[in-house]
Amino acid sequence: MEVLNLIQGKLLSAKGGEWLELTDPSKGKVYGRLPRSSAEDVNLAVKSASKAFKSWSATPPGERAACLNRLADLVKKNAQLLSSAESTDNGKPISLAAAVDIPRAEKNLRFYASAVQHFASESHAMEGEAINYTLRKPLGVVACISPWNLPLYLFTWKIAPALAAGNCVVAKPSEITPVTAYLLSTWVKEAGFPDGVLNILHGLGTEVGDALVRHPKIAAVSFTGGTATGAHIASVTAPRFKKLSLELGGKNAAIIFDDCDFEDALATTMRSSFANQGQICLCGSRILVEKSIYTRFRDALVSKTKKMKVGDPMDPKTKTGAVVSKEHRDKILDYITLAKEEGGTILCGGTQTTPENQPGLEGGYYIQPTIIEGLKYDCAVNQQEIFGPVVTIQPFETEEEAVSIANSTEYGLAATVWTNDLKRAHRVAAELETGICWVNCWLLRDLRTPFGGVKNSGVGREGGFDALRFFTESQNVCIKL
Ligand code: NAD
Repeated sequence: MEVLNLIQGKLLSAKGGEWLELTDPSKGKVYGRLPRSSAEDVNLAVKSASKAFKSWSATPPGERAACLNRLADLVKKNAQLLSSAESTDNGKPISLAAAVDIPRAEKNLRFYASAVQHFASESHAMEGEAINYTLRKPLGVVACISPWNLPLYLFTWKIAPALAAGNCVVAKPSEITPVTAYLLSTWVKEAGFPDGVLNILHGLGTEVGDALVRHPKIAAVSFTGGTATGAHIASVTAPRFKKLSLELGGKNAAIIFDDCDFEDALATTMRSSFANQGQICLCGSRILVEKSIYTRFRDALVSKTKKMKVGDPMDPKTKTGAVVSKEHRDKILDYITLAKEEGGTILCGGTQTTPENQPGLEGGYYIQPTIIEGLKYDCAVNQQEIFGPVVTIQPFETEEEAVSIANSTEYGLAATVWTNDLKRAHRVAAELETGICWVNCWLLRDLRTPFGGVKNSGVGREGGFDALRFFTESQNVCIKL
């Protein structure tokens, strides 16, 4: 597998001729290479995007939408290839890639193809005196930087609104999972995008990513990734007055009250804990359970989790695959060690493992789904993002206590509340310091809704018209009557 950059409609290696290795986390083996791009490649990509901007921004939204829809058609046509590539690159079960990642990538493109045709701006009449109308202009060349956990899903979630709104894009997928974005880049011309409208660069965040966000012609940066990277990007872009959207880390709580639908809460908490090996920013990594049902819920959760077996991600029956890299596996294992030092009891999992009877996968990066009990709410394991198949479980006595524990971290991305008390559901949702709150469900997504976090989980909102507002600048025109 050889990944290439897309610049000015051409598939190219990095100018400097350097490469990075591509690893299959299910085997721990190198299976390809990607360009180690640098500032030189950024300059070329930004130049090509700047050249394309005048014409693309003047292209009617309906025509831009047609390009996005044709790209969506190509994603659909190649869904099997993309699912398999995503699974190989990331370690996620192919069944998950085929059911969630790739269909959602297609949906993102179609959603913004449609949304831009319904996007409108405001008019403010000053009776008898003047009329104001607001133009919404595309920004120019924008940077879209995405992480490895939902590679094509989050990549398209950014480029679709940026392109729909009339911007030209230089996008950088994660160097850990670049393959599906590369496959997409091979279809951009066929979809009808003029050369230079969408450029895709591969390489290290600290090299090509850094050069991209610093480039003077980049008008805005839409970033999803870790909080420390987000803080660094903010420090680089703020003095240059670039528009910035940051979707960052989380430490989400799942709050389970004793009046919940027990089986539903249990089954969904299994998913919200361990889907994608716990590597979804919205996963609930702190499970808070009302004391009266704590033992019953804990025992049922542990019993179900013990039955989870890691398997070959490429096997359609596998529900739990590999974590994304050796470094990430080691980081997760370090947190499990820390949990023991902090006084936690490992109720299940807690170790690395390999799929049973699967020769060839011994070198892969697998962790047994892990539940930890007995930790204080304010210890490091309960405060820092682990981003793996590791959850903590703790009892609470009152609603106030649950809310206070949930709000105790520096993060504020999402929360899940399980109760059949309608008034409590509204009350607790409003009190939670998060950008998203699910009641009696998890990861139920309507793409029109605002998506994002508060506190150290980010700045700004994606989704719906929010993303189109981010990728445009308003200009008020006042006409005297
Ligand atoms: P990361 O911050 O290491 O990398 C994200 C992207 O930024 C990659 O493409 C990387 O190459 C690039 N990058 C790294 N350093 C850079 C720099 N100095 N300048 C410019 N770009 C740079 O994050 P990750 O490990 O890939 O992803 C995991 C993190 O993403 C977790 O913290 C997770 O919570 C978060 N995440 C958040 C959301 C959300 O919507 N809030 C969604 C998914 C993942």
